[in-house]
Amino acid sequence: MVSNGLRRAMPSSGYSDALNGGEMQTLSSYLEGRWVTGEGAARQLHDATTGEPIASVASGGLDLSAALRHAREVGGPALRAMTFAQRGAMLEALAGVIHAHRDELLELSARNGGTTRGDGKFDVDGASGTLSWYAYLGKKLGDARILLDGEPERVLRSKRFVGQHVYTPRRGVAVHINAFNFPAWGLAEKAAVAWLAGMPVVAKPGTATAWLTQRIVELWVDAGVLPDGALSLLMGGAGDLLDHVGPQDCVAFTGGSETAARIRSHAAVVAHNVRLNIEADSLNASVLGPDIEVGSDTWFMFVNQVVRDLTQKCGQKCTAVRRVMVPTALVDDVVEALTDRLSGVTVGAPGDKGVEIGPAASASQQRAVASGLEQLAAGCELVWQGEAPAQGYFVRPSLFRSDKGLDTPFVHEHEVFGPCATVLTYDGSAEVATALVAAGGGGLVASVYSDDPAWGGQVVLGVAPYSGRVHWGSRKVHDQSPGPGTVLPNLVHGGPGKAGGGEELGGRRGLHFYMQRTAIQADKGLLDRAFAAAGVLGDEA
Ligand code: NAP
Repeated sequence: MVSNGLRRAMPSSGYSDALNGGEMQTLSSYLEGRWVTGEGAARQLHDATTGEPIASVASGGLDLSAALRHAREVGGPALRAMTFAQRGAMLEALAGVIHAHRDELLELSARNGGTTRGDGKFDVDGASGTLSWYAYLGKKLGDARILLDGEPERVLRSKRFVGQHVYTPRRGVAVHINAFNFPAWGLAEKAAVAWLAGMPVVAKPGTATAWLTQRIVELWVDAGVLPDGALSLLMGGAGDLLDHVGPQDCVAFTGGSETAARIRSHAAVVAHNVRLNIEADSLNASVLGPDIEVGSDTWFMFVNQVVRDLTQKCGQKCTAVRRVMVPTALVDDVVEALTDRLSGVTVGAPGDKGVEIGPAASASQQRAVASGLEQLAAGCELVWQGEAPAQGYFVRPSLFRSDKGLDTPFVHEHEVFGPCATVLTYDGSAEVATALVAAGGGGLVASVYSDDPAWGGQVVLGVAPYSGRVHWGSRKVHDQSPGPGTVLPNLVHGGPGKAGGGEELGGRRGLHFYMQRTAIQADKGLLDRAFAAAGVLGDEA
């Protein structure tokens, strides 16, 4: 791998200097168990607050075929030899490494990603929390290596010749292509599940914020917790990575729908029917029920959660609400409450006191949001817009309103990935509310606020086919929810249609993507003995 002129590199050298305004850092990939720096055209990473370049990365010349082979041939067997409990212990140790370096990672997140401390924690603590949750699942699954799915099925009349479904880890590599907005959590939430299932990982972070990902990988490698080949990191462009995927590999992608379409139709992915999971754009919706009184607990739950989604991570959250459906009778109160709250929010440098919204993560995101705001403004009324610093990648938080429902242009088609949302009025009926949610073409999460079991139940179940997750806010739980924007490891994350059609996490459900379900037909007695020897776990564990 290093014979073709590529430089071996230790990424930690210069880390502190660069973070403190020293020299530009050259970022490296970790492939075949070594740090290596790519060549060719380099891409730059920037301080999101000032726009200054802080690091560069290139991925030309890297032997990605060899990297995938190393993962399959070295990492795979090592992970498969471990029990679920041992893999779980490994995940707990990796969570501990992140936690032990939390302050340093939050600082790097602020510099490269423009996150406030709270936003950085959402990403970094989300990473260690998800690893810990899957560590707990590993402990629960215990000294087994493969899983049973359901009870033995009778094949014909015989009780002896049965069919048993079983999950075994796939023999390939899990290729994880992540978006820029969660450089820590995105790495950890995918890897935790693949590792617990017994598959090695090749991670490719979104380049704009990839320094944080690289630093976590470096800390993990230095901690010596992972078996050789269990983790590789590709920094910079994907290059010919997907040309080398094969029939036992899995590709899990998070990002925009245009990139998703390219990956879906990639020749090697198509030729080998590579297992693919796509998390893409999502026009998440929040629906206020007509039964909710202004100033009630459920009202404040709704207002707080909309404001949180609009401000947190500068709106760069795949689960953030983009469309807010409000009965016409309540719309003036809603707009007043939201603008009131938003007017008190400061946009500025992440470290500055009182700042709640930092910059967008990159110049291209800043441009994309600015263009999205223009398009929203062309079809909706701009009811509020905040101020933002002129330097760096800041964008102005914005709230729009439309009374045109399904006929509002752009709102139901395009996700503006920034601190903005559109209030859409509706007649208060469950049918119209459901139709408006469905007009987004499939989303990650929809949120419904109602204390009326009949109306609320109709909308919740009505929007379920269009949503990966439905969050029902109501009086008795008004102070018990993390909000619809928080993805939890034990609940599925993903959504139909526009959201990519994929599904991640969901506790044990997430493991199935990385395992092959096989129906084995055999003599039950023989099978029981074979399973006992191989370390199989029952369905209920
Ligand atoms: P993106 O441009 O689609 O990039 C996503 C990832 O794909 C990056 O790592 C990117 O690498 C890589 N990539 C680009 N072209 C590729 C190719 N031809 N082959 C293989 N990989 C390729 O998206 P983004 O700008 O990072 O993220 C923004 C979008 O992601 C938003 O629109 C948002 O809706 C969506 N998103 C969805 C979720 C979810 O869970 N559903 C979560 C977060 C974001 P480079 O960075 O090197 O170009």
